[in-house]
Amino acid sequence: MRASRMNLTTLREDPAEAEIASHRLLTRAGFLYKSGAGLYLYGPLLQRVVERIRRIVSEEINRAGGLEITMPIMQEQALWERSGRWATYQASRTMLTVKDRSGQVFGLAPTAEEVVTDYASKVVTSYKQLPVTFYQQHTKFRDEIRPRFGLMRVKEFIMMDAYSFHDTTASLDVTYDGMRVAYQRAFRRLGLEAFAVEADSGAIGGSGSHEFMVAAAVGEDTILYNADSGYAANVERAHGRIAPAGPWTAPVAATLVHTPAVGAITDVIGFLNTNGYADVQAVHALKCVLFVAKTATADHTVAAFVRGDRDVNEVKLTNAITRLLGDAGPVLNLRPMTPDEVRAATGAEPGFAGPGTGLKVHLAVADKLTLDPAAPTVAGANKTDHHLVGFRLDRDAGVTLTWDDLVTIRAGDGDPKGTGVLDEKRGIEVGHIFKLGTKYSVAMGAEYLGQDQKRHPFIMGCYGIGTSRVAAAAVEQHHDADGIRWPVTIAPYQVVIVPTGKPGDAAVEQAAEGIYQELLSQGIDVILDDRDQKPGVKFKDWDLVGIPYRIVAGRGVAEGLVEVKPRGGEVANLPIAQAAAAAAIWIKERIAERNAAADAVR
Ligand code: ATP
Ligand code: MG
Repeated sequence: MRASRMNLTTLREDPAEAEIASHRLLTRAGFLYKSGAGLYLYGPLLQRVVERIRRIVSEEINRAGGLEITMPIMQEQALWERSGRWATYQASRTMLTVKDRSGQVFGLAPTAEEVVTDYASKVVTSYKQLPVTFYQQHTKFRDEIRPRFGLMRVKEFIMMDAYSFHDTTASLDVTYDGMRVAYQRAFRRLGLEAFAVEADSGAIGGSGSHEFMVAAAVGEDTILYNADSGYAANVERAHGRIAPAGPWTAPVAATLVHTPAVGAITDVIGFLNTNGYADVQAVHALKCVLFVAKTATADHTVAAFVRGDRDVNEVKLTNAITRLLGDAGPVLNLRPMTPDEVRAATGAEPGFAGPGTGLKVHLAVADKLTLDPAAPTVAGANKTDHHLVGFRLDRDAGVTLTWDDLVTIRAGDGDPKGTGVLDEKRGIEVGHIFKLGTKYSVAMGAEYLGQDQKRHPFIMGCYGIGTSRVAAAAVEQHHDADGIRWPVTIAPYQVVIVPTGKPGDAAVEQAAEGIYQELLSQGIDVILDDRDQKPGVKFKDWDLVGIPYRIVAGRGVAEGLVEVKPRGGEVANLPIAQAAAAAAIWIKERIAERNAAADAVR
């Protein structure tokens, strides 16, 4: 490609709204053009990057046995009603909908379990056809609350979504593990350092799931991990060990104490410490957080309890309430109570809620890890400016408690696997794999004929990779002060040749053109920068765009030499005749390194 024909449009200034490197650099280098709020056009350079990501992902999913298909983006409401997810996705407002001219409503695919399950029920009739995996890489729509960070969180993006069908859980386990390997292989070839963490299954549902994370300070996910034991989990799901609170000098019976205007736990404890309870600490207090959980048919008021020094994990709480509600669930939406709702539930100002008498909620859930029902605690008294000191959940509760896992695990907590302490880091979720079980097949009546001549629902798995998000994650992991440093496997072009002679310097032009033609004939994606620009401008552009390897034909040509330089590496002088071969070898070695890393995945 000749640079003069590339319509290269780089910006010197950072776009004002870009908060993270990938958004900033992809915009400045002309990969990404903002077409509307949360809507992006992929320029010619990004198109090439995404195409390469797509290809590598497809190769690995094919290798794992996937069959590529294309599903419609417009999906009938009736199909989503059959799985029960229409209500869920309407409630969370995740799904964008459109109407056709007859008024029929369609959802724009946020994911495609319904469509593929319906398809499998028609084309997979016998156990002999199992297992089978269908996948696509296609546009997805999600009405994100807060689109941001450029390609990272958008309303319209490309996802690889795969769905597997099985007759036994053992078969699902094999495919699930095969997909885990396929993901790791793909990420290594893509140049991403990604790792699997235990994850919550969310609205997709199912029994087990792992997310693939790229470590990055700008990541929106929090991961708890212990490098020694190998434990790693999203905070939404993480388990841990938390040291028990230890004793304090509590009154024998729950005692109503006037705690004027102190609602926050640290303030209450501070107040008590100077008013007769010297050794009570936040770990001895009971935190009560009030929510409203919405299901398809009702709003449930909920009180959640954790130890005073800890926080309620809303994902865990949502799951706990869904378990509790059984057929009356699932929870479609969970939100904190408004101050007025708190007043109605407790008869007190916010800050004085507790599980004693006077609390009026439909459901009360207590954290089983941090709370000891028999230990004395400090609880809100459901009376403005009052707390109950020495309150015991097993003795004094005025509500029926359900015990479940609610607490947010944090750095410093013990590794749930037994030894060591958990650390915390931020990650970008680039992929997710789920064991779905029979959730969709039972709901939709998708069955196959078993060896026993009976009909059985499919056991299913589903798998997603954020194809377009991967491009942004790659930039987060690979950039420097000058711009992007694309891994060779996904770079839009691999080599750029920059002639720096005076216009009309025939020797320089000839050298550059010769190397260009040789690289083209070797199948290398190469740019010849034939623009009428100063060398400094050209160098800056290619560093920003992130081309992995640069060849400069300039003054040295007179002595038969050109300069070669890997992006971010050292300059070397080479005879003109060797430059193309050197570049091609360097590129092929980098690709071979990535393939070897992929082959090392177990
Ligand atoms: P997130 O937690 O980031 O919202 P998710 O868990 O809802 O993602 P999945 O349903 O697991 O996403 O989708 C599979 C993959 O699709 C994700 O791992 C991610 O890489 C990508 N993805 C999801 N939402 C978006 C989005 N709004 N923009 C770009 N990529 C996305
Ligand atoms: Mg996910």
